[in-house]
Amino acid sequence: MAPVLCVGTVGLDTVETPFGRVEEVLGGSAAYFAVAASLFTSTQLVSVVGEDFPECHYDLLRSRAADLAGLVTLPGRCFRWSGRYHFDLNRRDTLETQLNVLAEFRPVLPPAYREAKFLFLANIDPMLQLSVLDQVRHPRLTMLDSMNYWISGAREALTEALRRVDIVLMNEEEVRQYAGTPHLLKGAREILALGPSALVIKKGEYGAVLLHGDGYFYCPAYPLEEVRDPTGAGDSFAGGFLGYLAQTDNLSMANLRRALVYGSVVASFAVEDFSVGRLLTVTPDDVRRRYREFREFTYFDEV
Ligand code: AMP
Repeated sequence: MAPVLCVGTVGLDTVETPFGRVEEVLGGSAAYFAVAASLFTSTQLVSVVGEDFPECHYDLLRSRAADLAGLVTLPGRCFRWSGRYHFDLNRRDTLETQLNVLAEFRPVLPPAYREAKFLFLANIDPMLQLSVLDQVRHPRLTMLDSMNYWISGAREALTEALRRVDIVLMNEEEVRQYAGTPHLLKGAREILALGPSALVIKKGEYGAVLLHGDGYFYCPAYPLEEVRDPTGAGDSFAGGFLGYLAQTDNLSMANLRRALVYGSVVASFAVEDFSVGRLLTVTPDDVRRRYREFREFTYFDEV
């Protein structure tokens, strides 16, 4: 089964939600992605940490089928992010982003990684996403995620990266921000016009939409009674989506639709606890069961 190559952040998060607060827990886009994707396949992780990255986190990532040959340790402190969620968990404020060792990082892929077939450019400086794209020889599928921080701070590099990938993953707010329009579908068309063949728009607790050519497919989010921490939902979604595509090695539209549902299933587990806590206890059986539930609550008859 093909592994997924992922470049993104690995760091320490401090997060406050109405249900609690955690300090300096394992976080970062690539960390969430790898743990989520491990339900389907392994990840070749390309990222950077500082000398203060706890040994137990290396062990955790290794135990979740992550190949750490591309995880570099540099002198200095880890990437750190802190955020606070509102009573409405769809809204959050970033309190602080400390790039630390990320500011010095220039990824050089181990030779085996250059042959990767599935590539996820998780949320990180678009210059680093471009550098990884340059080093992978013949990928079958490339997918890119980003966030407001880079849309406003590194727009030119991000645009160049958007031109070069197959699938773009953004949330509604990011599509509007990037395209400078309140009209979501117009913004989506603008992003697709740059070159990607598909765009996945994440809509938080309302699900996700897949747009490609003239096609449109919508998958709601799993109706959870309790969400404890939405951090990393997007990266976990990406882990389920791309992990499933790599596992099945099938890029048909029907399979992309299934992948969207698997992404939603995995994200629904991720938000049930802080950090990657809940993802560590999920089994492939739990995933299958929730997938079937999605089928039941989205099915309706023709009249
Ligand atoms: P999400 O909730 O899907 O947006 O992902 C949140 C994760 O992204 C957290 O674990 C953060 O460590 C990480 N993160 C926050 N800001 C950035 C940034 N500017 N670049 C890359 N990763 C970030």
